[in-house]
Amino acid sequence: MIPARSFKDKKVALFGLGGSGLVTARSLIAGGANVVAWDDNPEQVAKSNELGIPTSDLRNEDWSQFDSFVLAPGVPLTHPKPHWSVELAQKADVEIIGDIEIFSRERASLAPNCAFIAITGTNGKSTTTALISHIITENDLNIQMGGNIGTAILSLDPPQDDSIYVVECSSYQIDLAPSLCPSAGILLNLTPDHLDRHGSMEHYASVKERLVAKSENAIIGIDDEYCRDIQKRLFQDNVSTTSISATTELADGLFLDESLIVNASNGEHSVVADLSGIETLRGQHNAQNVAAAIAACHTIGLPFDEIANTLASFPGLKHRMQPVGRLDDLLFINDSKATNAEATAPALKSYEDIFWILGGLPKDGGITSLSPYFERVRKAFLIGEAAPKFAAELGDKVDFEIANTLELAVAHSHKSAREFAAQSGRKATILFSPACASFDQFRNFEIRGDCFVDQVANIEGIEMLIPHKSKGDADG
Ligand code: ADP
Repeated sequence: MIPARSFKDKKVALFGLGGSGLVTARSLIAGGANVVAWDDNPEQVAKSNELGIPTSDLRNEDWSQFDSFVLAPGVPLTHPKPHWSVELAQKADVEIIGDIEIFSRERASLAPNCAFIAITGTNGKSTTTALISHIITENDLNIQMGGNIGTAILSLDPPQDDSIYVVECSSYQIDLAPSLCPSAGILLNLTPDHLDRHGSMEHYASVKERLVAKSENAIIGIDDEYCRDIQKRLFQDNVSTTSISATTELADGLFLDESLIVNASNGEHSVVADLSGIETLRGQHNAQNVAAAIAACHTIGLPFDEIANTLASFPGLKHRMQPVGRLDDLLFINDSKATNAEATAPALKSYEDIFWILGGLPKDGGITSLSPYFERVRKAFLIGEAAPKFAAELGDKVDFEIANTLELAVAHSHKSAREFAAQSGRKATILFSPACASFDQFRNFEIRGDCFVDQVANIEGIEMLIPHKSKGDADG
């Protein structure tokens, strides 16, 4: 854990006692701060008390005594309207910060030159964070990975000169980190998302822009209009910038050419990596993630060839287009994280001869936006509440059946794909990319994905591509 020593003897109010909030409170206490914490959920308050974190309803406190107010990133700062605790802090003119700000201050005082790679964007943050972490781990360096990807940043080891922090940042976390200035900042892409929490696309983009604008080395995907505008502004402001593109040849930067990642410098091109055959990095969207990861790892002094050598062993992230099993010419892909049509699009774009399992709790808009990719689908298998709606949307454009449950969908899709492969002599992909929330049949998308993997593991003769414990294996 990183003790927040820059808050020694300060009086700090904290709201939001979920996973990262509890770690933050303990880090502040370990650093010598006087903390008063609260949450709207009494269970979280009770949990904090058990951990020895002092709590008090912040509505009853005198805010003039507080030096800082730490807000959990899940609590509204601006939209749809500021949380009551934010209003109290603003009225008393108390600074409002989050855990990444606390980390930034500790880094500035303990090891200001240690590498700090911060990753943001609308899509691909976790994949890029995990890939950078993989590359650094394979090169035997002192990696510390955390942030929005799951491990609270303040639970990592304290900064030292040789530490390399790789931190996924959501827009909420950036909004709460005014002195965030990473050694390398990545902005992958920007599309409308979470606008309920940011008010407008312009505000959302301006928050994300802050991460790269204050980076020593800014790395920007320039395949969308918002990021291109940001890149132009950084260039005008003389920020050291590396552009990346999965769609356009560049004179300077890293771009995708067929399956190759090419480095361009003053119009001179050299091939850095070949992604062909790397199943876990398949698709144009992943090329953007790879190019960003390569650029970031290059800023910490890793040569291109040593970076490229590690790509093929990237295991991929669970539930995100992850190849989980193979049987002769059939490949089974778990993309359970795809909880809406937009998230399913990259998977449909990345494969051909698809046997597509989809459905669950449908979202507004359904799957009509995916119709350009329907020609890649040989047959669809519909599950959950969305089945009748999706059946109507697929109409006569795609052959489909209503399988209702994931178990039946796996069994039937496997059988159909096997027949197709035998008759056509082609490879086929059984793709579980639901384009729906999971809550009608599963507690969350992770449990839904695990259920798919269990079904695949039960198929006779299957070669599992990920570690998997069959139900018969004893624990320990
Ligand atoms: P995030 O952490 O930003 O939510 P993930 O890395 O978890 O993103 O990927 C979630 C899904 O987003 C993936 O399954 C894939 O469908 C899609 N995706 C990943 N990278 C990109 C990208 N660079 N551009 C567009 N979509 C992407």
